[in-house]
Amino acid sequence: MDIDKAVRQHLEMEHFFSGFALKGKAGAPEPQQQEDDPVPSEAEAMAAAEKAAELEKIAEEAHQCRKCGLGSLRTNAVPGEGNPNARIMFVGEGPGADEDAQGRPFVGRAGQLLDKVIVAMGLKRSDVFIGNILKCRPPENRDPRADEIISCLPYLQRQIEIIEPEIIVALGAHAARTLLNTTKSIGQLRGQFHEYYAGLGRPPIKLMATYHTAYLLRNYSQENRRRVWEDMKKVLTELGLPIPEHSTG
Ligand code: SF4
Repeated sequence: MDIDKAVRQHLEMEHFFSGFALKGKAGAPEPQQQEDDPVPSEAEAMAAAEKAAELEKIAEEAHQCRKCGLGSLRTNAVPGEGNPNARIMFVGEGPGADEDAQGRPFVGRAGQLLDKVIVAMGLKRSDVFIGNILKCRPPENRDPRADEIISCLPYLQRQIEIIEPEIIVALGAHAARTLLNTTKSIGQLRGQFHEYYAGLGRPPIKLMATYHTAYLLRNYSQENRRRVWEDMKKVLTELGLPIPEHSTG
């Protein structure tokens, strides 16, 4: 990508996904604990600690994992991170180069845009859980292969079972198709709620599919940004959360 285009995108991103959020400032730090944020009870804090410990166990397994060929190619596994009690889980397809280097999900340019989306929703990154279908980076960021998804998906399924989010946001076609077991396009899937089945005896979890932020960066039109924002507004409404005021600039 040429420098001019990267700079233009960055400025537009600042304007679109943070300039409007809660009338906030571009580059403003994450909101601090508000006085009216609920303080968890002792029981809730203990339940969160237990969940965190279980998630940590999964992360450890992923770091040791060699169940598919990606295990021998990675620098770091990227198990995912976030709030064990998250109401929203964002799920992408797999780590890229920055994520592989740091062992953390969504930390490159697409991750910065996801951060903007989260802040635009009036939330903090630490409110949500962010993960991927694959825990290790496919070489050259190629598409995940079916055998890799089959090997890796149980980690994500266990994370979902532990966190029990109210809504999963599937970022991009690979995440949406995998979690919904469908071959439909992201254009057909996005913009409406679907149901993710977490297993026998468990209630289905609402799933909103939307564009992956890496796709959004490559196709940075006002229309695509508006579509993602419309999808996120539906998520906020479903959760009974206020919709921050903004324009799609
Ligand atoms: S991608 Fe998943 S299944 Fe493959 S080695 Fe990494 S953690 Fe294991």
